[in-house]
Amino acid sequence: HVPVICVDGPTASGKGTLASELASRLGYHYLDSGALYRITAFAAVRAGLALDVAHEHSIAKMAETLPVRFTGGQVLLGELDVTDAIRTEEAGMNASRVSALPAVRTALVALQQSFRRLPGLVADGRDMGTVIFPDAPLKVYLTASAVQRAERRHKQLISKGISAKLADLRADLEARDLRDSSRQVAPLKPAEDALLLDNSGQSIEESVAQVVQWWER
Ligand code: C5P
Repeated sequence: HVPVICVDGPTASGKGTLASELASRLGYHYLDSGALYRITAFAAVRAGLALDVAHEHSIAKMAETLPVRFTGGQVLLGELDVTDAIRTEEAGMNASRVSALPAVRTALVALQQSFRRLPGLVADGRDMGTVIFPDAPLKVYLTASAVQRAERRHKQLISKGISAKLADLRADLEARDLRDSSRQVAPLKPAEDALLLDNSGQSIEESVAQVVQWWER
């Protein structure tokens, strides 16, 4: 059976950094499931669809046949390079909107599971351990305080030359967390067998080391 490590947690908790570092350390594949919701939202906006229940089935249909490719750090939608376009705060909020539509979540299940290939997979998201890979032998639920998460996001944006107000970022991520944890289907919460990791005071290196230790034991 192909091993999977799930890394779930709220917005800007450092899941992406931890999961991709872990994947490269172990030589495993990496699934950024949030990117799939971001791309779906992007494609829907581009098609002129409002991101609400009225368009749930049209958006789900797009999600089911999403022509997405991850190559060399780039994210392609068909021939379009959407690497940067899907990383904005607005794209994150739009992803959160489409991800609350049950048909959209269902439409993305098979695509996510298709990333499970030898020698193994590290999957990052909100429901990797609860819904997509419930049999995963290691599930990590990553948390950090809202202040810390807002500060990290702020630093990330500044390093890309994008200006943003710390208070706005914090309000945005708290709004997104609230939507993600209060939705009907696959709400954000730790799997019952998840190990909790609060990385507020940790360096990336320390969190990676912690998870590697869990994996090897
Ligand atoms: O992780 P990221 O911030 O890229 O995810 C964007 C949004 O996609 C999240 O706020 C969440 O609403 C949604 N998402 C989800 N389930 C996942 C991954 C992301 O609902 N497995």
